[in-house]
Amino acid sequence: MSLTGRCIIFTPRTTEKDYVYIAKAGGCYSEVGRIGGPQVLSIDVHCFKYHTTMFNGTILHEIMHTLGFWHEHTRPDRDQYIRVNFDNVQPDHHYDYEKMDITETGMNDKKYDYYSIMHYSTRTFAKDRQKPTFEPTQHIEMHDIGQRKYLSDVDIKGIHQLYQCGIKTRKEFFNYDYRMFKPESTRYSCKNHYTMVGSPERFCRNDAKWSGDDPYCLGSSATNIYCNFDKDKCQWASDSVNNRYQYGEWIRHSGTTDTDQTGPVFDHTWETSDGYYMYIESSQNRGKKFRMRLFDIPPGICMSFYIHKYGKGIVPGSLRVFASQNRGTREKKIWHDNEISSTDWKRQLILTEITGPYGMRAKMDIIFEAEVGTSTYYWDSDMAVDDIVIATCGQIKDYDGWLNRQSKPTKTIVGSIARFT
Ligand SMILES: [Zn+2]
Repeated sequence: MSLTGRCIIFTPRTTEKDYVYIAKAGGCYSEVGRIGGPQVLSIDVHCFKYHTTMFNGTILHEIMHTLGFWHEHTRPDRDQYIRVNFDNVQPDHHYDYEKMDITETGMNDKKYDYYSIMHYSTRTFAKDRQKPTFEPTQHIEMHDIGQRKYLSDVDIKGIHQLYQCGIKTRKEFFNYDYRMFKPESTRYSCKNHYTMVGSPERFCRNDAKWSGDDPYCLGSSATNIYCNFDKDKCQWASDSVNNRYQYGEWIRHSGTTDTDQTGPVFDHTWETSDGYYMYIESSQNRGKKFRMRLFDIPPGICMSFYIHKYGKGIVPGSLRVFASQNRGTREKKIWHDNEISSTDWKRQLILTEITGPYGMRAKMDIIFEAEVGTSTYYWDSDMAVDDIVIATCGQIKDYDGWLNRQSKPTKTIVGSIARFT
């Protein structure tokens, strides 16, 4: 998860009529959305220290206003979620707690988000700061209401929804009838049995016609196996061979995982909350192992895939790949990760030919195993896998070379904030 994927990019203004003027203009404030002409986004020195010296969440909060977001606690439906104690709100700030009208905000189908960076804390503009300005009507963790540390999963979803990032392309894709493809938009094609991989690894089809960014043709061989998990699990299944443990099953999933601050927000393939990946849920699974298995892979293969390990309980080495042969329980560990917690998808390569425990050049099963942490924070150790490519070692090496030559997207909202500090 980069904060917004490739959704919002800030560029310096040249001649645009409407633009954001970022200034030290006495306070931390912003207009909501585009108002036309220059508009001030004020970031004063104290905005950096407003809530805590460790986080710049107040700046994120103001930028969210600029992007068009209102305060979460003023949503038209907020009375179902919080009870405002106007008696304890400073009189000149009553309007900051007024409910908005749906004609002003538009429909909002997202869940009410207590942890949104756009939510006030229970002490914002309180007369008596020992007493709350509102009370949640649902049973939730109080201390993170009004946090100014990170965009919540729902905040990120909101940005993607409002700016239709990635999603449109994908919808178009699934609604597209390929027989209707106009010849002029078909820019690439691979030979029969070639696997076409998008940019980078956006999509592949074996009969491949492609319109869009430069694809990569993985070459012709019986061993090309690519799965982005968008349609289904391909042939990845639960481990029905090895029953040594009560292995949990990997889950095919899109969007955020069930627990905040662990697991991906987007898949790798599309970088949207619509794209799918495989993951293991750590909540209530302390120390548990999870497996998925792909049967009958020909010998002579290497692999490329992306992993996502984010959360306080993340342990390096807790994600492993095994090979086995002859449906036996003897297995050979061929890879393990060394990742620490990160909000990004990380590319992994196995560039040495994979062999099974018996060494001979015979069909193998490939097994992904993930083990949930056992630390205090074990519940924050969701792990995910996406875009698994299995191919001959020569192909994987070529493919890796091609990927390295691709230009990477640069500025995201995160980079831009750094520039403004
Ligand atoms: Zn605000």
